[in-house]
Amino acid sequence: MRKNVVAGNWKMNTTLPEGLALAKGLDEALKGKTVNCDVVIGTPFTHLASVAAAIDTTKIGVAAENCADHDKGAYTGEVSAAMLASTGAKYVILGHSERRAYYHETAEILKTKVNLALANGLTPIFCIGEVLEEREAGKHFEVVEEQIKSSLFELSTEDFGKLILAYEPVWAIGTGKTATADQAQEIHAYIRKVVAGKYGQAVADDCSILYGGSCNASNAEELFSKADVDGGLIGGASLSVDKFLPIIEAF
Ligand code: PEP
Repeated sequence: MRKNVVAGNWKMNTTLPEGLALAKGLDEALKGKTVNCDVVIGTPFTHLASVAAAIDTTKIGVAAENCADHDKGAYTGEVSAAMLASTGAKYVILGHSERRAYYHETAEILKTKVNLALANGLTPIFCIGEVLEEREAGKHFEVVEEQIKSSLFELSTEDFGKLILAYEPVWAIGTGKTATADQAQEIHAYIRKVVAGKYGQAVADDCSILYGGSCNASNAEELFSKADVDGGLIGGASLSVDKFLPIIEAF
C-alpha cells in the first residue's frame, strides 16, 4: 500500500532560530494527534542536524533540498548525500524546477544525485513537471515522461520502489495558480501508467505521487481526494504551522 505524504519545502527561507521555532511548533502541534499521512519538512542544509535533534523524527521526517552529484572530495561548498544522512535527514528533494532552471541541473546530473541519495539510505522526493508553454502546447505528458525516463529508469526495481515522485507544474509553483484536482489526477494517473510500463503495476501502485504547486489549506482536500494524488509537496504554505497543519489534516 502506498503512503500518503505531506512534505514541506522551506527553500531558502528562515534563519536557524526561525527554522528551529517552526519545526518545534509543528512538532508541538502534532503531539497527541493521529494523522493519516507521513509528514516531512525540507529545510536548508544549515538547519538539518539541529531540526532533526529538536523534533520527534518518528512523526516528522527531515528532508534536505538538494545534494551533491559527487560522493566526496574537492567540491568546495557542496554537501554530499552521506553528510546529509549523518545529520538525521531521511529524505532529499531532487529535481526541483528551481534547481533545474537556476542551477542547470540536467537529467544526467539528477540521475547521479538520485543514485548517491539511495546509496546513502536517503529517500529521494523526485520532482517533475512542465512549464506553462509546454502545458499550453499539450506537451505535459511527454515532458514528465521524459523527465522520469531520463533520470530514473536505469534504477533497479528495488531502488525505484524507494522513491517518492512529486508532480509540480512549474506554472503553479509560487504563483497562486493551482492545477485543478482533475488536471492533477489526469497527469498523476499518466505518471503511474508510465511507471507501470517499466516496473510493473505493483510497483506503480505502491509509488507515492505528490502534487506540488500552490497547494494550500483551501485546495488540499480536493486534490488529495483524487485516486492518484498521494499527498503534496508544499512550498509557501509550509512556512507557518497555521498554514501547514490544515494541509496535513486534509487527509
Ligand atoms: C514547491 O516549490 O515545491 C512548491 C510547491 O511551492 P509552492 O507551494 O509555494 O507553490
